[in-house]
Amino acid sequence: MLYKRSSALFQDAQKVIPGGVNSPVRAFNAVGGTPIFAKSAKGAYVYDEDGNRFIDYINSWGPMLLGHAFPPVVDAVIEKAKQGTSFGMPTAIETEIAELAVSMVPNIDKIRFVNSGTEACMSAIRLARGFTKKDKIIKFAGCYHGHSDSFLIAAGSGAITFGTPNSPGVTEGTAKDTLLARYNDLENVKELVEANKDAIAAIIIEPVAGNMGCIPPVEGFLEGLRAICDSNDILLIFDEVMTGFRLANGGVQALKNINADIVCFGKVVGGGLPVGAFAARNEIMNYLAPIGPVYQAGTLSGNPLAMAAGLAMLKTINADADLMNRLEEKTKYLHNGIADALNKNKVTHTINRIGSMISVHFSEDAVVDFDSAAKGNNETFKKFFHGMLNKGIYIAPSAFETWFITDALSYEDLNETIAAVEEIAKDL
Ligand SMILES: *Cc1c(COP(=O)(O)O)cnc(C)c1O
Repeated sequence: MLYKRSSALFQDAQKVIPGGVNSPVRAFNAVGGTPIFAKSAKGAYVYDEDGNRFIDYINSWGPMLLGHAFPPVVDAVIEKAKQGTSFGMPTAIETEIAELAVSMVPNIDKIRFVNSGTEACMSAIRLARGFTKKDKIIKFAGCYHGHSDSFLIAAGSGAITFGTPNSPGVTEGTAKDTLLARYNDLENVKELVEANKDAIAAIIIEPVAGNMGCIPPVEGFLEGLRAICDSNDILLIFDEVMTGFRLANGGVQALKNINADIVCFGKVVGGGLPVGAFAARNEIMNYLAPIGPVYQAGTLSGNPLAMAAGLAMLKTINADADLMNRLEEKTKYLHNGIADALNKNKVTHTINRIGSMISVHFSEDAVVDFDSAAKGNNETFKKFFHGMLNKGIYIAPSAFETWFITDALSYEDLNETIAAVEEIAKDL
């Protein structure tokens, strides 16, 4: 496959955009080579500027649950745009999508829309701090909650110590209020809570982790977190930016039958337009301005085009009772096919999967937290990534990412993908 035009475009981009990209994950830094410039996409496929076609497993990093350029979303956006693209005044469609979201997701009374998952998570912890009148939060190593300061903290030397900033620009003052725990390790959380009695406002978690590969919670983990929060006056925040409206209509809360106190959304809820949201029951949401003391705002929040795309998305998901089953069946089929192909060629691997999320780790140990995810063989991944790319299969250019299965993928697409894995596995 040739990437001539992508290479030229990347050269130009680097001169005026840092690293040539507006979000670092789009660069190929972890795998080498030049990022591919997308030109268009339809259904299961993305087409690049050189005219190559790829079966897409990134899907804009999650939003395209129903495939690219999904007609109801595209039509809704076009129709809305003709009526004006932003007003800075309330619009009827904001209430319409809020009502639908509240009806689909358990345990929430009110929802506020923002412009990204980052904003949703950032606002959720401010709300939690205001509501509980406490400062510290616990997050889990390997979980991503957007790029706001409080969350850019990775595992330092042991989870019991205070976090250290892992990005310059995040102050020590901010970092000391973020405590780090190990995913799937309840004892670790208990120790942190014990050592910081009455100081913790919230525990924020991806209830199914998707940003260190796909890592489902072990049996009892989320239940344990719920119990710890209940007995210590701590709010439990589910960051469902990736999992919301994807793993179930009601997200992981519904899937695992566990109530969170605040839930964050993004990705699918915007249908490919910039949307995030956070939601909770009345007593918490009423703490927000203009009726409560916690300030939160946005010039373009609830933007009509974004709401039109999100509403078309949620309506489709809500009306299709078999959607989640179909997605899971396709993901399972892919899982089995890839596992067979790798086993046949004796390639050491572990595959994690839940619903329409799946990740392939070149490691023999179970992948249950950040440390075990980091053990994967990155050299093997690089070869795998470029092999797949050259066969027209686009997976994320990092071993720490989940593949997203869309309803637009056909079984022929899945078979083509499995056949590609089988070919590449011979050289791994
Ligand atoms: C993508 C993601 C975010 C950040 O959302 P943006 O829209 O990129 O700001 C936050 N949390 C999780 C779990 C995510 O997957």
